[in-house]
Amino acid sequence: MQFEGPLSKMSTFYGEEIRYSLRLGNDLLFMNQFIGKTVEISFDGNHTCFCGHLVPEVYRQNFCRECFFTKPEASPTIMKPELSKAHLGIEERDLEFEKRLQLQPHYVYLAKTERIKVGVTRNTQMPFRWMDQGAKSAAILLEVPNRYVAGEAEVALKDHFVDKTSWQAMLKDNLTEEDLMEAIQRAQSLLPKHLNNFVYEDAVEWHFNYPVKHQIEKVKSISLKSQGDQLKGELFGIRGQYLITENGVFNVRSHSGCMVKMKVT
Ligand SMILES: [Zn+2]
Repeated sequence: MQFEGPLSKMSTFYGEEIRYSLRLGNDLLFMNQFIGKTVEISFDGNHTCFCGHLVPEVYRQNFCRECFFTKPEASPTIMKPELSKAHLGIEERDLEFEKRLQLQPHYVYLAKTERIKVGVTRNTQMPFRWMDQGAKSAAILLEVPNRYVAGEAEVALKDHFVDKTSWQAMLKDNLTEEDLMEAIQRAQSLLPKHLNNFVYEDAVEWHFNYPVKHQIEKVKSISLKSQGDQLKGELFGIRGQYLITENGVFNVRSHSGCMVKMKVT
């Protein structure tokens, strides 16, 4: 079987075991079925940016240089919600876009891998966001009316919880023994008073079971940088946005836009 097209982030489906699909060109591939098979992904050296342009090199975060500096999709508030200004009617790059994105309910959550981290997401991105991160479990802490308040809460909790976790530890399945719901209680008690109204009353712990048939001990990362680079090996499993193979791990999302051929045998 052979497929080709630009890579993009895999879609996740929640269930007893998480299912992954990948759109490649005209095909929609259900990736779980390839576990145990040999997967070969070869890079032809070109990228497409989301603006549709074919570029020899992506600039940052899969954007071409022009998009990175001008498009609202690439603005600094995407990474730092606390910089949001749409609730004040202040434009950063495109006020209509920023209002649509920022002035909607967001969740502040805690997610567990090798540590417990705090994060922010639009409520429509849940539970997908957690599966993209490869979290083992997660729970909602706050439901807030906009992105700015979410950022404010995240900043307040950063002194007590990390906002990043190690993907290497995640892929090795190192898991903290800390109890997530206890951490939720602790986080609630640490919040600035004016955020107490937003505490999410029905918090439950979501658990995620990834399709990994063989747990790796060492993590070697494979990236496709220039024409002819390839990944080839038996697919052991999928977690987060990583394909875990016998020869190394491959972050599908960070290769978004790379034009590839994929062969499964
Ligand atoms: Zn672009």
